[in-house]
Amino acid sequence: MKKTLLILAGLSVSAILSCGDKSGSTSSTPRIQFTNDSLTNALFDIDKNNFLEGLWQLSSEWATELGHHTNDHRLSIMDSNYFKRKNVLLTSQIQRLSTIDTLKLSQDNYYDLKVLQHEIQRLLWNMNEYRQHEWDPSVYNVTGTFAYMITENYAPLTDRLKKISERIKQVPEYYAQAKLNITNAVPELAQLAIDQNQGGLEVLSKNLVDSVMKSSLSPFEKSDILEHNQIAIRAIKDYIKFLEENKSQYNRSFRIGADNYEKKYAWDIQSQYTAEQMYSKALTRVDYIHQEMGKIADSLWTKYYPNTDKPTEKLALIRQVLDTIASQHVSADSFQSTIEAQIPELVQFVNDNNLLFIDPAKPLVVRKEPGHLVGIAGASISAPGPYYLEGNTYYNVGSFTGWSSDKIESYLREYNHYTLQILNIHEAIPGHYTQLVYANNAPSKVKSIFGNNAMIEGWAVYTEQMMLESGYGNNAPEMWLMWYKWNLRTVFNMILDYEIHTKDLQEQEAVNKLTQQAFQELTEAQNKWKRATVTNIQLTSYYTGYEEIIELRDLYKKKMGKSYQLKTFNESLLSHGSIPVKYLRSILLQ
Ligand code: ZN
Ligand code: ZN
Repeated sequence: MKKTLLILAGLSVSAILSCGDKSGSTSSTPRIQFTNDSLTNALFDIDKNNFLEGLWQLSSEWATELGHHTNDHRLSIMDSNYFKRKNVLLTSQIQRLSTIDTLKLSQDNYYDLKVLQHEIQRLLWNMNEYRQHEWDPSVYNVTGTFAYMITENYAPLTDRLKKISERIKQVPEYYAQAKLNITNAVPELAQLAIDQNQGGLEVLSKNLVDSVMKSSLSPFEKSDILEHNQIAIRAIKDYIKFLEENKSQYNRSFRIGADNYEKKYAWDIQSQYTAEQMYSKALTRVDYIHQEMGKIADSLWTKYYPNTDKPTEKLALIRQVLDTIASQHVSADSFQSTIEAQIPELVQFVNDNNLLFIDPAKPLVVRKEPGHLVGIAGASISAPGPYYLEGNTYYNVGSFTGWSSDKIESYLREYNHYTLQILNIHEAIPGHYTQLVYANNAPSKVKSIFGNNAMIEGWAVYTEQMMLESGYGNNAPEMWLMWYKWNLRTVFNMILDYEIHTKDLQEQEAVNKLTQQAFQELTEAQNKWKRATVTNIQLTSYYTGYEEIIELRDLYKKKMGKSYQLKTFNESLLSHGSIPVKYLRSILLQ
């Protein structure tokens, strides 16, 4: 199930240089001629809308978080009737799409159709074959959407509370159905469901109660919503108890296996490569990065250790140089103000170097992270959904509230003077934030709703390299070294995810890899292991998207010859919404 667009810094991270590996990717693309017939386009637009309205009736939580509020009073109860209706909606839509004369569409609608066809098949696969609703108890959690409805100001508070009042009455039925749906769960996902439902309880027990009390609802409305809130809270606690009691009997492996892995990689990532091919590119990439890091660390050694013998072992040398550079960091008190000051500098650099157009009418708001995001990540972008474009986009910055001084120091060393700048490039300018502004300007909602994660993350990772190549950071060796480290995290996200889910990689081995070969802290490595046991494929999006964008840029350069301009490439890449890079390849290389 797709959630509201929240791009987490801790989850996002980094890039890679082109390693000259172009296997199986240089065939020329046939030119598609669109006749752009107005009637065909108009009918398709109506059809798209009808389909989406039907989908939002069934997937009302998803709709709410996209900013579509027609079904806010409804909770999706996943009973047999729900699955039947969803199957009918999706299969009849596939049928209808197949009758459209695609060459009569505009280019934009043509790719809407491609995206829709893929996403519908993906939803069908997930529902009928992968069947996540039977073994992943974390699919069931109502609290996130209630938090959204309480905190997001898309309508007056009383209106939102009236919708909540209707929706909350369905919570007991929702969890009763969840218990029926779960057959043999993955124990790690059962624990995740317990933690997340437990963590979300406060939304109802505190935030909702506070909102109701301060609202201008009538006394009757207030007591009605509070009464049903109590019943809903009991239903959530009952679900948690159910999972705790059954957890020891669940024995489905969190590893999805090689066969499912290739399928899901194809559905979720939509690369032109298989997961196995991308994994082998990542392995090659590690050797390359270690070599480059070794050269830089070697050149910096006497600057930082004038009186110490240089380690002979390459990885040890790199580690020691990284260690000393990390001590250059801001204080906890100035963390947010440093980020705020950097945003206009990044905009200035992009403009001065003519890298791409940045719309001055859409400034980014930096803010301290709101309560419901506390502890999730040090920095994140939260953006309004495609149905709520007038909403603000925020750069949420963590506040370190309740952190021990050791934890703060370790975090500040991780986001040191150099890495903090790379983080701001990735999250904000010209990374995620800039990409979102472009995507929102693209006319179609389809491409935003079903945004391709590999394109979104790949772009952010690509911009880090693109900025440094263009001279950001004055080519300081320290900046490049830190970038390579940041970069390695992306590569190892791919390697780890693949090896865990298809090759039975064990925890200790995984942690060793991350600490020794990717220079990660122990806690970071342990967290990564944990994340890979409760997700799959998502961790491959960074490296895959990055790799494909770099390959595309090389081919585009070759095609354009002397008339190649980086600005044109960047803007062309962003101007079609968040579609898979393989489609951008067809468009740009045509
Ligand atoms: Zn990211
Ligand atoms: Zn320090």
